[in-house]
Amino acid sequence: RIRKFAAEVRSQFPILNQTLPKGVPVTFLDSAASAQKPQSVIDYEAEVYRRYYANAYRGVYRFGAEVDDQLEAARAAVQRLLNAAHREEIAFTAGTTLSINVVASGWGRRHLQPGDEIVLNVMEHHANFVPWQQVAQATGAQIRFVNLTPDGQIDLNHLDEVLSERTRLVTVTGMSNVLGTQPPIAEIARKAHAVGALIFVDAAQSVPHESIDVQGDEIDFLAFSGHKLYGPSGVGVLYGRRELLEVTDPLLFGGHMIERVSKEGSSWAGLPAKFEAGTLPIAQAIALRPAIEFVESIGLENIRAHEQSLLAYAHKRMNEVPGMRIFGPDVNEKGAIVSFVIEGAHPEDLAQLLDRKGVFVRHGHHCTMPLHEWLGVSATVRASFAVYNTVEDVDRLIDAIDFARQRLRLTKSSV
Ligand code: PMP
Repeated sequence: RIRKFAAEVRSQFPILNQTLPKGVPVTFLDSAASAQKPQSVIDYEAEVYRRYYANAYRGVYRFGAEVDDQLEAARAAVQRLLNAAHREEIAFTAGTTLSINVVASGWGRRHLQPGDEIVLNVMEHHANFVPWQQVAQATGAQIRFVNLTPDGQIDLNHLDEVLSERTRLVTVTGMSNVLGTQPPIAEIARKAHAVGALIFVDAAQSVPHESIDVQGDEIDFLAFSGHKLYGPSGVGVLYGRRELLEVTDPLLFGGHMIERVSKEGSSWAGLPAKFEAGTLPIAQAIALRPAIEFVESIGLENIRAHEQSLLAYAHKRMNEVPGMRIFGPDVNEKGAIVSFVIEGAHPEDLAQLLDRKGVFVRHGHHCTMPLHEWLGVSATVRASFAVYNTVEDVDRLIDAIDFARQRLRLTKSSV
């Protein structure tokens, strides 16, 4: 069943169905960095340029009007995906990084003062770490770190100790891009709100793997990127509750985001235009809709079930490899990411040797230096799974690891 599902899904991704030199198949295990695109997304984006491209929210002529309609349809698709109450709570940005910077700067600089506290943890991606450090420095607010449990989950007892009436905001990942940890967002939101603080969710990794309900989970701000959700690069989303976005300042100033400009000063447009200065990534934002529809057509529950069964199989096979050390929570308590080291093998050498077998994984600190410091290693190798991965991909990963271990003379063979 899992084989049939994967074959059907995989056939929609042309990049995965090519053959590398010497007949080597593509084993793409780096979707946590960026996911591949189905044919529907590729076609939809190309169609913008072929049939009706124009700048957005400017022209009354037919092409401009169609672009505006398509952008609003994409915005409505994001609203549906997140279960946001209002369409204007969805702003298009360049990606997660920009969305986080908008809130850290635009909300943080306006509302934080010395004595206020922001709650962070060492598992966060640099994109959800450095902007808060910067705003703390600028405003005199303090950063408090909530501990991780030894297996890399948010220590909820420690969170209770860290939260106080001084806490203004808790920022947390929906899913760690290294450990696969999926913090209990609704519970963390409840705890934050109980002390009068807000919650920001970095959903860059979680959006492709689980359904999100910003109203049900009481999420105040959320960010994600199109490119990890099988959509185009260059476009992302900032979600914020309407009353919060209204008291968040823009980060970028220029065309389209204004209401009125005069020599004396300027005032800002309403939501979401206030956060959409300049020319949008037009075709990319429009093609976010077929990406969302792709995910919806399969169903996030089915995607998750498929990925979790691959993850369990990968863990089982990888744990048989001598010298293997996998980081993070138990396989049943995390998303489909496996970060590991193999004793005696440098992560970069390993990644390079895997590439010889057409197995694409990432190595390094994955933009999480504080996490790697906490783990006590300077780098890891990461294999991450998406809806189009198959049992054969896992088998090829294991074979490639075996090949690498032989090349590195770690042992003759593990299998
Ligand atoms: N947060 C997390 C958890 C991520 O994995 C990433 C991407 N690696 C980002 C933020 C940043 O996303 P982007 O580069 O698309 O802005």
